[in-house]
Amino acid sequence: MDKHMNIPFVDLSAQYATIAPDVEAAIAGTLKKSDFILGQNVNLFEEEFADFCNAQYAVGVDSGTSALELALRAYDIGPGDEVITQANTFIATALAISYTGATPVLTDADPITFMMDPEQVERAITPRTKAIIPVHLYGHPADMDPIMEIAEKHGLIVVEDASQAHGARYKGKRVGTIGHVGAFSLYPGKNLGAYGDAGIIVTNDSAADKQMRLLRNWGSVVKYHHEIQGFNRRLDTLQASILRVKLQHLDDWNASRRRNAQLYTELLSKSNLVLPTVGTYAEPVFHLYVVRTEARQQLMSYLSERGITTIIHYPLPIHMQPAYAELGHKMGDFPVTEAHAQQILSLPMFAELTSEQIQYVANAICEFESEMQVEVELLEPVAA
Ligand SMILES: *Cc1c(COP(=O)(O)O)cnc(C)c1O
Repeated sequence: MDKHMNIPFVDLSAQYATIAPDVEAAIAGTLKKSDFILGQNVNLFEEEFADFCNAQYAVGVDSGTSALELALRAYDIGPGDEVITQANTFIATALAISYTGATPVLTDADPITFMMDPEQVERAITPRTKAIIPVHLYGHPADMDPIMEIAEKHGLIVVEDASQAHGARYKGKRVGTIGHVGAFSLYPGKNLGAYGDAGIIVTNDSAADKQMRLLRNWGSVVKYHHEIQGFNRRLDTLQASILRVKLQHLDDWNASRRRNAQLYTELLSKSNLVLPTVGTYAEPVFHLYVVRTEARQQLMSYLSERGITTIIHYPLPIHMQPAYAELGHKMGDFPVTEAHAQQILSLPMFAELTSEQIQYVANAICEFESEMQVEVELLEPVAA
């Protein structure tokens, strides 16, 4: 075993160190100008993020959850409506649907890619279905073409949950611009993250853009004139000024994540782990590097003893969460999601991860497997 290292799951301070002077200048600039609410940097960040995605419009909001909720509300989705999403996502996807008064309808995942399964979506459609939310989970684009075909056939709105996939491409297009609307979280740990909560929505639909601008700001464009009963869900100018600095690095950071993933994949190719599978249609951005193993608990503790932090995304599928008991599901309803939830493990992943750190993680995994192998061999004669 090489010398002991401590490898965090994500290292936000390592990233900050690479951009500190620019971030500090941006913060100082905003403090000086003091246009804290819907200031100039909010407009500029919206323009730059829209350009980055090649979308016509972008609307800054206070979180990814708000981005999803306001996107649905912009299309009048509410009580009595159903919105189809997937059981293997972060709970915010489902909660955003519930906040509008609509009902989340869950589907099982594709067994290989772990993305939304279009066949399951089609089967879940009822006369009440209004929208579909595919999630570009772990930074891997969902297979959008069949989803868009189903949506067109049934007259449904598609809101992409791109919270884990800023900059990823599906058949050459940035995710978030394939459906009617794309919702992004800008939570600190995401591929593009603020220094606090933030989110943004992109669209090419000018009516939806107008509606989302009203919804985030008390239904108002002209101060003290309120067209609808909107909310206070604005993106802070301070966060926007930081995000403008970080956006300039996003393509490079995503390229580093892909290189890191490539190195994990090379070093682990002979291990017994199931490694991430990426559809040929996709250019992923590896928000997470998720492997599968039946010995997950043992591997997690083994790595933890060696200073390596791993996390499970997510241990309990939405349909098994107490918060969603009202949906009336039981174990067995989504077998792919349930089986994966028992086996998935996310290895440390961030742009600044060094090849030395990746090597250390891979070595630890290989050592774990050979120690397990010895144990099995020792046990066998006893069992015979
Ligand atoms: C992070 C995340 C969200 C929620 O974003 P917040 O900014 O934390 O509100 C929604 N969906 C997915 C898939 C996420 O990863």
